[in-house]
Amino acid sequence: MTSVAVVGTGTVGSMALWRLAERGIHAVGFDAYAPGHDRGAAGGESRIFRTAYKEGPRYVPLLREARGLWAELERTSGRRLLAPVGGVTAGPREHPKVRAVLDAARAHDLPVEVLKGEQARRRVPEHPLRDGEIMVVDHDAGFLRPEPAVGAAATAAERAGARVARYTPVRELREDADGVTVLAEDGEHRFTHAVLAPGPWAATSGLLPEPLARALTTRAITSTWFPRRDESLFDPGRCPVAIRVGEPAYSCFPAVDGAGVKINLHVPWEEIASPAALARSVPVAYVRQVARAVAGTLPGLGPDPVRVATYCDAFTPDGHGLLGRHGRTVLAAAFSGHGFKLAPVLGDIVADLVENGATARDIGHLAPNRTLRRSP
Ligand SMILES: Cc1cc2nc3c(=O)[nH]c(=O)nc-3n(C[C@H](O)[C@H](O)[C@H](O)COP(=O)(O)OP(=O)(O)OC[C@H]3O[C@@H](n4cnc5c(N)ncnc54)[C@H](O)[C@@H]3O)c2cc1C
Repeated sequence: MTSVAVVGTGTVGSMALWRLAERGIHAVGFDAYAPGHDRGAAGGESRIFRTAYKEGPRYVPLLREARGLWAELERTSGRRLLAPVGGVTAGPREHPKVRAVLDAARAHDLPVEVLKGEQARRRVPEHPLRDGEIMVVDHDAGFLRPEPAVGAAATAAERAGARVARYTPVRELREDADGVTVLAEDGEHRFTHAVLAPGPWAATSGLLPEPLARALTTRAITSTWFPRRDESLFDPGRCPVAIRVGEPAYSCFPAVDGAGVKINLHVPWEEIASPAALARSVPVAYVRQVARAVAGTLPGLGPDPVRVATYCDAFTPDGHGLLGRHGRTVLAAAFSGHGFKLAPVLGDIVADLVENGATARDIGHLAPNRTLRRSP
């Protein structure tokens, strides 16, 4: 009988556990903490979901499936996880990322709209455009609630028969011809297969095979929350999520908690030695930089952040994650700062790879055996 150890029940691992359990496969999740914690890649209250994908049209079919699975998880859990407020990409008309959004939409016939001038000002007053800029509206976008979403997937998995070993770090996986031995804090466990979903710990945990792990980096991403000047703006029930490209570049979320508007500046994210090295304090120079970006482009926000927090993710050199079989183990890691929205479909693909050794979905761009070299 197939039995699976899922190492890491964060974003991707919790979804994999849910999809495996739904198929009646015996699965046990191990986590150093517990589902829904904020010490890895899934903290900070909101994540963008979008389908007109600047990272490449190949993602669009996966995103469509992910959207359906988010709805299924909402039904199963009785929780609202995806707020379908839409999303906009704003920036210079000829910017390569604006073009990439339009290309992805065209390739898959997605219902996007292009706004400019007065029309954009009326429809999305929170995000004024500058001369020569346009706004592409993705009607299938919105924001996800990361901590409850991970918790909901783990609970759905447990209800479907999976077990979650909380506060149980895994030290080592030993694979042989018949199965995989998991050496965890609470002892040794034997399974026919394993799934490795250690998130930002992928580069440093010693669990991923070499030379793959060496090609990965762990990076810190800082979120800042700014107060609204006018309570009618950035309403989480109406205001779209936004990505501004060009200079400055950032993502911006409505006031999800009713107080702060979250801004993630898109700058080269700092490489850190490991998630344990994540600093709680943020350099003043960074705070000044994000405050300048807000002052220059978001007149509806106050000048200084009321909250600052840093999280992390694992990155590949080409910005595409790792998803594929390596012996009896499925690798599902390093989603490079954009994996949250995809998580349920990634989890379902993990279940395909365990059950059948292959998947019908197009995941060639995520193949762990592609050439990945760190820039020196
Ligand atoms: C600030 C920030 C903003 C982002 N914004 C977006 C966005 O808007 N939209 C989007 O789609 N994506 C976004 N991302 C990216 C997305 O959140 C990540 O790609 C995704 O959450 C990664 O999921 P994961 O399962 O790989 O990692 P995690 O969710 O961190 O899960 C890894 C889990 O593995 C566990 N673990 C690690 N090692 C071990 C071990 N040895 N034993 C047991 N357990 C272990 C950890 O405790 C953790 O629970 C953002 C990321 C960050 C950091």
